[in-house]
Amino acid sequence: MKMVFLGPPGAGKGTQAVMLREKKGFLHLSTGDILRENVKNNTGIGKKAKAFMEKGELVPDDMVIEMMLDTIKNARDKKDFILDGFPRTAYQAKKLDNELSKLKLPIDMVVYFKTGINTVILRLTGRRLCSKCGANYHIVNMPPKKQGICDKCGAELYQRKDDSEETIKKRLEVYDNQTKELIDYYKAQGILKEVSGDLEAGKVYSELSEILSTCESDDRNKVRK
Ligand code: AMP
Repeated sequence: MKMVFLGPPGAGKGTQAVMLREKKGFLHLSTGDILRENVKNNTGIGKKAKAFMEKGELVPDDMVIEMMLDTIKNARDKKDFILDGFPRTAYQAKKLDNELSKLKLPIDMVVYFKTGINTVILRLTGRRLCSKCGANYHIVNMPPKKQGICDKCGAELYQRKDDSEETIKKRLEVYDNQTKELIDYYKAQGILKEVSGDLEAGKVYSELSEILSTCESDDRNKVRK
């Protein structure tokens, strides 16, 4: 199953993608994570992307498209993957469709994480990440056992620079202006499914699992017919 996770920042796309990776072996391809890794390692992409990311603006389309297509092409197993945070503009979505159809890897399903603005703001302002393994925490909803320390690897937690209130506002504005239209784009293709991003992670995961098992059995039925 090849999926795109769509929704505002803070909708829980990353959390669910990690759960699907750990429980069902999905490959999780997060544009934000890949870009942050490039910034950390001061690569050519990282140097160009840094300023856009810090301001909460989108990194230029062509750069992100090339980076993500290379990542998909180089993936060892292309059967089950989740694109998290990509595409984010209509241009990226069209380009992705064209390239994936050439590779015979069309997107099977797009999951829209429908999430209210208050949830998003609370989640983003309280989000903390592990500086070493990238694990995700929330100071209220998902606190680590020991404050400021990762449960999984013991490294220090940090707050993303773009999770400041000012940058969050900008990111949400960008989402409204550029990404929201993708809901209609994928709806028109008949591959859009919706989950309630406002719910806690375990409940969203149940909704997602339900959708996945329905889609998988639909697929088998198609094969049988
Ligand atoms: P995220 O971790 O998904 O919230 O992304 C963090 C930042 O990375 C965004 O605010 C953008 O600056 C950049 N970014 C992530 N995905 C994309 C994309 N598909 N297109 C352009 N910029 C992106």
